[in-house]
Amino acid sequence: MSSLETIPVTELKGVGSAVAEKLSKLHIHSLQDLIFHLPIRYQDRTKLVPIGRLHLGDEVVIEGEVTQCDVAMGKRRSLLCRVKDQTGSIMLRFFHFTAAQKKQFESGKSIRCFGEVKRGSTGFEMFHPEYTLSNEFEPHTDKTQLTPIYPLTEGLTQLKIRAFCEQALERLTPYNLTEWLPEAIRVQFQLPPLIDSVRYLHQPPTDADTALLASGKHPAQLRLSFEELLAHQLSLVNKKQQAKLERSSVISERGDVFDRLIASLPFDPTNAQQRVFQEIMHDLASGHPMLRLVQGDVGSGKTLVAAMAASTFIQKGLQIAIMAPTEILAEQHFINFKQWFEPLGISVAWLVGKLKGKARATQLESIANGDALVVVGTHALFQESVHFHNLSLAIIDEQHRFGVHQRMALREKGMDGLLQPHQLIMTATPIPRTLAMSAYADLDCSIIDELPPGRTPVTTIVVSDQRRNEVIDRVKASCKEGKQAYWVCTLVEESEALQCQAAEDTAIMLSEQLEDVSIGLVHGRLKPQEKADIMTKFKQGNIQLLVATTVIEVGVDVPNASLMVIENPERLGLAQLHQLRGRVGRGQAASHCVLLYKTPLSQHGKERLSIMRETSDGFKIAEKDLEIRGPGELLGSRQTGLMEFKVADLQRDKAILEQVQSAALLMHQSHHDHIVHLLSRWLPVQQDYLRV
Ligand code: ADP
Ligand code: MG
Repeated sequence: MSSLETIPVTELKGVGSAVAEKLSKLHIHSLQDLIFHLPIRYQDRTKLVPIGRLHLGDEVVIEGEVTQCDVAMGKRRSLLCRVKDQTGSIMLRFFHFTAAQKKQFESGKSIRCFGEVKRGSTGFEMFHPEYTLSNEFEPHTDKTQLTPIYPLTEGLTQLKIRAFCEQALERLTPYNLTEWLPEAIRVQFQLPPLIDSVRYLHQPPTDADTALLASGKHPAQLRLSFEELLAHQLSLVNKKQQAKLERSSVISERGDVFDRLIASLPFDPTNAQQRVFQEIMHDLASGHPMLRLVQGDVGSGKTLVAAMAASTFIQKGLQIAIMAPTEILAEQHFINFKQWFEPLGISVAWLVGKLKGKARATQLESIANGDALVVVGTHALFQESVHFHNLSLAIIDEQHRFGVHQRMALREKGMDGLLQPHQLIMTATPIPRTLAMSAYADLDCSIIDELPPGRTPVTTIVVSDQRRNEVIDRVKASCKEGKQAYWVCTLVEESEALQCQAAEDTAIMLSEQLEDVSIGLVHGRLKPQEKADIMTKFKQGNIQLLVATTVIEVGVDVPNASLMVIENPERLGLAQLHQLRGRVGRGQAASHCVLLYKTPLSQHGKERLSIMRETSDGFKIAEKDLEIRGPGELLGSRQTGLMEFKVADLQRDKAILEQVQSAALLMHQSHHDHIVHLLSRWLPVQQDYLRV
């Protein structure tokens, strides 16, 4: 008997090539795909509900007698038909109707309808219900299952897809949809059998717990999520294991470039920075590609760790690249790396999208001939025209904004005979541990859990914009004391131009109210040189108040700045607010961050901002951000391929993540032969990853 995976949907009644084409938009090609195309919700059409007991929003079957039928003129012409049973009456309303339809609704006829109870101008109404008329009905059925509602695509109706799923279910047996979860694992984690679970989810009995199903936490659903998460986990772990079989350049010593770099610093690396560097050195000595994620809170000094690692490659004449998600961030790294390495006689190349013509050609050449051992840039680094001389270490900053594909693309750039580049990935958004172990199971993790000395905690205050003038007074007082401040204008409009305009307006407004304060303005539209000039003036203290867009989220380091006002903070993610706030609290003075929100603020908004007030721990903030926004946003929507699931949801299913991780270990130890089947069931498109 052939597996459902190999039977095309075209074998079903009613599926020709046109319908198959539509189904393929839902990624449904085989009968197995239909089986895993699960309902998004259910309707209960099995019970007849007395009209007097209807609630707003119910989707129900009712039965009664037509007592009246009229065309109402009003704002929109509609056909109104009153239906009554012993307990009450309700109005049916049709905006589109024919004369014949109107004639059908004769007074005294029996009618049975299914629809949603809404509030209309006559009280409870059903708009365009499904209905049948009769002189007399057979007793209301016999249906023993809830009616599934499936995700649809244009040109397919619920009725059609329901019929296809029913046909697929009729053919479903334990022989054509193999149970790949070993008995031992199912028993240990109390997972019902696969076949029972899918049957249940397509056709739940009438007494099913619909609230539980709606929450996605029914055992039948958890069982499928478990299997899918397990498949993802296994594929990432596989990827990691395979990477360990590849060969990479061996670095066994720190060398003298390292020593000179450290000697040139005005400070010593923190213990945490040294520890993480040791972890990196351990990887580099192995001869296999390093795949390491360095997590560290804002300001923990990840860049220096990257530079320390880089120096050991430079020592051996091996090229390193550092890639950042935005030009501003790339520029900041460029400035840092130039400052650190150029005095040691090492040239640093720079490549971003906006670099054109001759300047670009020059950079490309020094990257290709190896003159530049350090290359800094954005996505521009993996364009086709970029050829590296001997890329041996790829450093990727802000991991969550790049997808796996992009990481892989940069690695390809370094493929040189048999040697693969090492990868060091840095993220400032701390990922909660269980999530990290699922989402980044292909990476080893290091944590910089210590901030450089001399940082003072930032006190955060949440203030409504009605008290804007008080906040301005506070800025004035602070500047009078010789301290400096930021005023951050957030993205009110999606357009960068409008945002810059808003920052300009704010700067003008503030300079009218703060006559004695020198004010500077930075935003994304300034030329790099203009930006750099203003930043230098701010660093030197010639500018007291810096009005800025969120461009200062990264890279600005002015210890004398101890006050930050953030306008409309409710529009930003918590992680981003945390990053912004990390710009103050770098000096000796007590620092403050004022979140100046726009009224009215929703309850949800209040809760979010109060998290910022209560904690400055990046991990806690990330955890909350995750709860509120879900992992898709936290990890970046570009994580497609890694984070796209058919049934699972990392946030909703986080309670089972640890079980999934232990199950993955068991699979590796004792059920190795099942792994490939699980992967091909759940991640067919990612098969090429497995060949990494
Ligand atoms: P992040 O981890 O947020 O990327 P950065 O690498 O930008 O942090 O470092 C933040 C600031 O701390 C920079 O100005 C950097 O020079 C400084 N810094 C890094 N390491 C140390 C240290 N060990 N002691 C003092 N300052 C440090
Ligand atoms: Mg950084």
